[in-house]
Amino acid sequence: MTDFLMTVNGDQVAAATTFGVINPATGEIFSQAPECSREQLDLAMESARRAQPNWAAEPAARRSALVACAAALKEEAPALAVTLSAEQGKPLKAAEYEIVEAARWLQASSELELKTTVVRDDQHSYAEVVHRPLGVVAAITPWNFPVLLVGWKVGPALLAGNTVVLKPSPYTPLTTLLIGSLLAKHLPPGVLNVVSGGDELGSWMTSHPDVAKISFTGSVATGKKVAANAVADLKRFTLELGGNDAAIILDDADPATVAKDMFWGAFINNGQICAGIKRIFVPRPLHDEFVAAFAARAGKVRVGPGDSEGVQVGPVQNKMQFDKVTELVADALANGATAVAGGLPSEGPGYFFPPTVLTGVKEGMRIVDEEQFGPAVPVMPYDDVEEVIDRANATKFGLSGSVWSPNIERAQEVAARLDCGTAFVNDHLALGPDLPFGGIKWSGYGVENGPWGLEEFMNIQVRYTARPKPAKIAAPPEEDK
Ligand code: NAD
Repeated sequence: MTDFLMTVNGDQVAAATTFGVINPATGEIFSQAPECSREQLDLAMESARRAQPNWAAEPAARRSALVACAAALKEEAPALAVTLSAEQGKPLKAAEYEIVEAARWLQASSELELKTTVVRDDQHSYAEVVHRPLGVVAAITPWNFPVLLVGWKVGPALLAGNTVVLKPSPYTPLTTLLIGSLLAKHLPPGVLNVVSGGDELGSWMTSHPDVAKISFTGSVATGKKVAANAVADLKRFTLELGGNDAAIILDDADPATVAKDMFWGAFINNGQICAGIKRIFVPRPLHDEFVAAFAARAGKVRVGPGDSEGVQVGPVQNKMQFDKVTELVADALANGATAVAGGLPSEGPGYFFPPTVLTGVKEGMRIVDEEQFGPAVPVMPYDDVEEVIDRANATKFGLSGSVWSPNIERAQEVAARLDCGTAFVNDHLALGPDLPFGGIKWSGYGVENGPWGLEEFMNIQVRYTARPKPAKIAAPPEEDK
């Protein structure tokens, strides 16, 4: 049995079987989540399909429902944060912040404009372009920001007039299940269904005939499978995948200042963030000073269980990711790298790994070429700007990148040459509901957020009306000539 239930057609439902959810700070199962059956998924899809036309018909009701959802989520943030911290590992404060941010995204979605554009209005015709919802959206989220991404996906999907079937990661299903039950109080039955289960459930969703659009955040490998299922039925899809973001420090920057300003761009959420800094490039003459300042900061981070007072960073979220980070760091060390901070996993229990800064690394090492998605960052020297731009772009990924310098114009010029979805100057990870977020190359397909993200949840329809043709001037009668 479990206290956590799915939301299907507005009802709270259990499943015939459950699966264990691990607290990454202990490595032990601390709760159970329902394992959605195929029949239950069909019911969720059917309820979403049935609810959609009425939901689409009432734009004002959609806006006010989203405002109510945002307020409810914000109010419950402190209570929900306890569950989020336990299942995800992040500190309580960070968990609460994530939930409040998700509420902010829901609120921002409620304020987006549903635009109609008049493209022709003359004596021959009137033509306008309107946006229409797609139908049922399958939303699939990962384990790093399980709640924030509910806001990113559910807000615009619902505002556009779609209904949603949402599936959290099996590593972090619990808070999303609670949110399903909370938001059901403010939404008509069927508008938002929340189901939980393993990866197979995701695959059933992406091949389900009732689904018109898939909104997916997760790994590149899974993204490719999602795309294949979507294409087989020509479903619309948006993919937010991984990244290997470069941060480039220019030679006029102050190393200690940049070390301070960019630190959390690399280590927030334990580095488990798609658009975090994953490779740092420093001009050779500034390398040692930067490394010393950056490593000193890493050494001071308070790592521990998310529910302990004063903790800044929790454990890595799951054993698979913990093993990957351990392996990539060990591989770098075996190939000549030096850990100037961290370097070894902490003694158990739990999946703790200290913030790690690696030098003596280069392209060709796994820690540089692959997405580490954890608390270990390689720092590499460079000799000239053309070289570093090439190196920053020499990756299959293209999510974001940043350039750091007091000379803003120069930094902007370099940033503009980065092949990625967002190019920052003197910041990294500055995301907002008004900024479209998405990656190029392997980092994604399509964008989320703002009016650009909203459009991805809609089709356009041209509404064309011919104007009456002017009556022909009759030829004058013969005798008048
Ligand atoms: P994952 O791809 O393993 O899982 C993501 C979700 O997909 C989970 O809910 C999972 O159950 C589901 N899933 C698994 N197999 C599926 C299938 N065949 N069909 C449909 N759904 C399936 O990713 P993860 O390990 O949970 O998340 C980490 C990855 O996500 C990292 O690579 C990270 O970079 C990426 N990420 C990207 C963004 C972004 O916005 N670009 C944000 C967060 C995480």
